[in-house]
Formats: sequence, C-alpha cells, structure tokens
Amino acid sequence: MNIERKLNKAQKTFKTWKAVPFKEKQQALKKLAKLLDDESEKLGKVITKEMNKPISQSIAEIKKCALMVRYYAEAENILQPEKIKTEFRVSEIHYVPKGVILGVMPWNFPFWQVLRFAVPAILAGNTVVLKHASICFGSGNEIEKLFLKAGFPKGVFQNLEIGHAEVKTVLENPIVQGVSLTGSEKAGAEVASIAGKNIKKSLLELGGSDGFIVLDDADFQKAAEAGASSRLLNCGQACNAAKRFIIQKNVEKEFMPVFVKEYQKFVAGDPLKKKTNMAGMARADLADDLEKQYNKALKNGAEIILPLERISDNEFVPGLIKVKAGNPILQEELFGPLGMVMIAKDDEHALKLANDIPFGLSDSVWTKDKKRQQFFIENLESGSVSINKGSSSDPRLPFGGAKSSGYGTELSMVALKEFVNVKTVVGN
Ligand code: NDP
Repeated sequence: MNIERKLNKAQKTFKTWKAVPFKEKQQALKKLAKLLDDESEKLGKVITKEMNKPISQSIAEIKKCALMVRYYAEAENILQPEKIKTEFRVSEIHYVPKGVILGVMPWNFPFWQVLRFAVPAILAGNTVVLKHASICFGSGNEIEKLFLKAGFPKGVFQNLEIGHAEVKTVLENPIVQGVSLTGSEKAGAEVASIAGKNIKKSLLELGGSDGFIVLDDADFQKAAEAGASSRLLNCGQACNAAKRFIIQKNVEKEFMPVFVKEYQKFVAGDPLKKKTNMAGMARADLADDLEKQYNKALKNGAEIILPLERISDNEFVPGLIKVKAGNPILQEELFGPLGMVMIAKDDEHALKLANDIPFGLSDSVWTKDKKRQQFFIENLESGSVSINKGSSSDPRLPFGGAKSSGYGTELSMVALKEFVNVKTVVGN
C-alpha cells in the first residue's frame, strides 16, 4: 500500500476508533500484552538480527513491552469529561483525540520505543503511522502484525517503511496531526521545525549524557555494578545510560578498582547466545563515530583508564576515560561502550559538573544521606533523578527530558494526555 493510501486508511479508522469505549480498547491491549509475552523469544530474535542486541536483552525488552501494555490495559480512564464547578449549568473539560499521529522511532529499542509512544496514543483514541529506523523495518512489520492479531481494527497502527527523507511529506500531509520522535537532536530539531511550521504538536525524546554521581558514603559495590551495566547494556546505546561517572575525590582510589572490575565483565560476544552480555553496535558507521569522539576527547586532554579497542566493524572492548570540565566532548552524547569519569571535590562541585552539559535526561545519585539526596533532587537539571539505583524507565512513572534532551512526557498516566486536544464545554 502506498503512503497516501495508508494515511487515508488511518484517518478513516480514526473516525470509528475514537468512539470505541475505553474499556473495549483496553481489552485489545490485554490481548496485545499476552501476545508479546507468548512470542517474546521469536520477537527477541527479530530485534537481535536487526540491531545486534544480545538475545537475553532483546527478550527482556519484549517482556518489558508486555508489562507496559498491561499497565495501560488496566489503567483508570482519566480521559472522561471532568466537571468543573462554575455558575453555569454545564462546565466541563473534554479530552479529544487528535487524529493520526506519526511516530519517528530509532533502532536502539526497536519494540519498546515504538510501543511506549503508540500504546497511550492509541488508547486515547488516536491512530498511528510509524516511520521506523531504516534498519528496523522488520520490527515495525512485526508490531503491525501484533496489533492486528490482538484484534485492533486495520488502520489503527500501520508501518510505513519509508526513509527519513520522506518524513517531511508525511508530516506536512493535513491528515497527520502530530509527531513523536525518539532519536538524535539533529533529527529532532528537523522534525520539530516541520511540525512547528505546520502548527502540529511534537514530542521529542532525544539524547542524554547522564551523570552517575558517587559520593563518599555510597555503597560502592552496588554503585559499581549498577554503573557498569547502565553504561554497557545494549552496548551503551541508550539515551538514559549513565555516561559520566562523577566520583567524589576522597573515594576515587577506593571506588575506581571496584568499578573497573565490574566494567570489564562486559565482553563482546555472539548476540544470539543467551550468556552474551554485550555484542556489536547496531551499525558500523555508529562505531566509526564513537571512535572519532574517543580521539577527540583524548586530543583535548582526556586520560585513558581503559582503552577503547575496536575489534571488528562494530565491536569494541569497552573504554573508560577521565575527562575534565572544559573538554568539548562533554557537549556530545557518547552512544556506545565508552564511559567518562569526572572527579568532584564535594557535593556542590559534583552538582556543577552534572548540570554543566546541554542535556538533561536522567541522573543517578549514590549517597545514603537524606539531606545530600535532597540537595541533588532539588538542583539537578534533568527529567528524572534516581537515588541509589541506576536510571531506568518504568511504565508507571513519567519519562522525558529537560534542556536539549527534549520535551513532552512518555509513560505513566501523563502520556495519555499528550496527543489529545483539551476542549472546554460551558453554558446553560
Ligand atoms: P537518528 O536520530 O538519525 O535516527 C532516529 C530516527 O530518526 C530514525 O527513524 C531516522 O530514520 C529518523 N531520522 C533521522 N534523520 C531524520 C530527519 N532529518 N528527518 C526525519 N527523520 C529523521 O539517529 P542515528 O541512527 O543516526 O544515530 C545517531 C545518534 O543519534 C546516536 O549516536 C545517538 O547519539 C542518537 N540517538 C539517540 C537515541 C535515543 O534513544 N535518544 C536513539 C538513536 C540515536 P533513518 O533510520 O531512516 O535515518
């Protein structure tokens, strides 16, 4: 089917889908969650074959999708009209779905990113068309099949299989009412400017360079384990991965050997073997970019703790570098198995280092002291703060960024209201 026909189909389906009762929509979501659970091994292989994620992590991604879909399948209907007390006979807020929403999605979590956006949008009454990353059309097609198998009407979710040059035409089409993009700032800025020119809503979930702050009263073993896996799961290709390890100076000598030991447990292997904990990056050009960033960091004074060693087109022995404030690499996101260590004199200094970047996605702070925790909770400029745990997304909690990490909220009940118009009804 060509794009025009798919968009027409999405619009036609929207007219009936928006009127389907919330509970009925949730019944279909229950079936979708079950299918994801039942087919997790098969779908996990689709992910691994497309973008090299270790199979155990691909299966975990599918199971997390099932959990998220079930969360929305059981959610309270917060989109019912709300009555407001005024002097009028009727005064209400109605939440009206916008229509056809475009998702522009990346390859790093090919099921999770798509479903995280699509499920609340669809439950709110919208229909969705997907432009998936060019290496993930297989995942996009599997997701479309899952929606149909779960009993959603044709046209509620459609995969477009288009390259990024075609996004402009789709977004400019009057049928499309909004866009949600997860990816780089460059793609985000381009897509949001097209949306802006056409007065359409956009939601951006972009990069991060999250701080992982270890203070002198932290549990070092737990912090080291969480920090290493946060940096290296999915071969370091996650927006909310820990990317800068900000360590209090007086415990650097004690913490670093524990951390390095955990870090070195990640070794590139065959992504289809269940015991593999790290594999190659998704594309060789992304590995080239990471190598260039490594060299740029070194040229600007970074010191090597563990060298980043390229062992094939897309595989590395993970690297770790010590970086000082002012290094231009801090303005960039490192999307691969390369971590940065920064040393802070005290809490104020750790906060300054953490905030002194263009991004603001999700920081993690390790201290047992409630007052110190509170200081960071209040002052970190990011979309989320995790205390004594690595940053991760949870269907029940909002997910979104500050600064160049984007705007808008995914997950939780908040996401249900992202692609609706708020209509005031008032009178006698
Ligand atoms: P992109 O941001 O280029 O890709 C993400 C999605 O956007 C893909 O579907 C892509 O399509 C599409 N896209 C890219 N450019 C445009 C455009 N001009 N107009 C419309 N759509 C566009 O990410 P890359 O794959 O190139 O990765 C580059 C860097 O982006 C990474 O190193 C990382 O820093 C960041 N990134 C962040 C992610 C996150 O989770 N926040 C996820 C992925 C990447 P197509 O595949 O056809 O190019």
